[in-house]
Amino acid sequence: MSARTGILYLVSGPSGSGKTTLCRRLSNEDEASYAISCTTRKPRPGEENGKDYFFLSIPEFQNKIATGELLEHAEVHGNFYGTLLSEVLNKLEAGVDVVMDIDVQGAALVRESKHPIIQHSLVDIFIMPPNAEELRKRLTGRGTDSQEIIETRMRNSLDEMEHWPKYSFRIVSGSHEEDYIFFKALLHGERLRISRHI
Ligand code: 5GP
Repeated sequence: MSARTGILYLVSGPSGSGKTTLCRRLSNEDEASYAISCTTRKPRPGEENGKDYFFLSIPEFQNKIATGELLEHAEVHGNFYGTLLSEVLNKLEAGVDVVMDIDVQGAALVRESKHPIIQHSLVDIFIMPPNAEELRKRLTGRGTDSQEIIETRMRNSLDEMEHWPKYSFRIVSGSHEEDYIFFKALLHGERLRISRHI
C-alpha cells in the first residue's frame, strides 16, 4: 500500500442536480478517478459502454451480485445500478482519489461497509438542486428522457432530498462553474486532513 490511501468521494443528489457533470469534470481534469458503474438501464443517445456505464442485461447484473463483484447495488427509477469493487479498491490502495456518482440507497450501503480502506477514505457529499422548477428545467433540457421518465425522476427527487442531512457536505447547485469551485475546494481541503497522512 502507498503511504497515502486515496479518498473516496460519494456524490449523491436527485437526477438533474448536476452531480454527474461535476464528477465527470473532476475526472477529466485528473483530480479523481471516476468509478464506472454497472447498470441495467438502456444507454441514452451518446452514452458509451465502458465509459459512461457498463450496460448489462438483468442476468449479467445478477451474476455480478452472485460473484461478489459489487461493492453495493440498488434499484433506482426502475433500473439496477451497482459499483464494481474493482473500480474502487485497487485505486484507493494505490493512493488514487475516486469519485462515485451514487444514489442515496447505495451511499447508505457504502457507509455501512466494514472494509477498513472504505471506512477510512469515505467523504460523502449531497448536491442539492436550488428548487423544483430549476430541477424540471434541467431534466427537460437534457433532451434525453421521455416525459414519463422525467415525471418519475421529479417524484423520486422528493424522497431523495430527505436524505441530505445524512451527508457530511452539501452543495446547493448554482452554475456548473460555481458548483465545481465548491467541489474542488472541498477536495483540496480533505487532502490536507492530517489523519489522511498518518
Ligand atoms: P442515471 O440513470 O441518470 O445515469 O442515474 C440514475 C441514478 O442512479 C442517479 O441518482 C445516480 O447517482 C445513480 N447511480 C449511478 N451509478 C450508481 C451506482 O453504481 N450505484 C447506485 N446505488 N446508484 C448509482
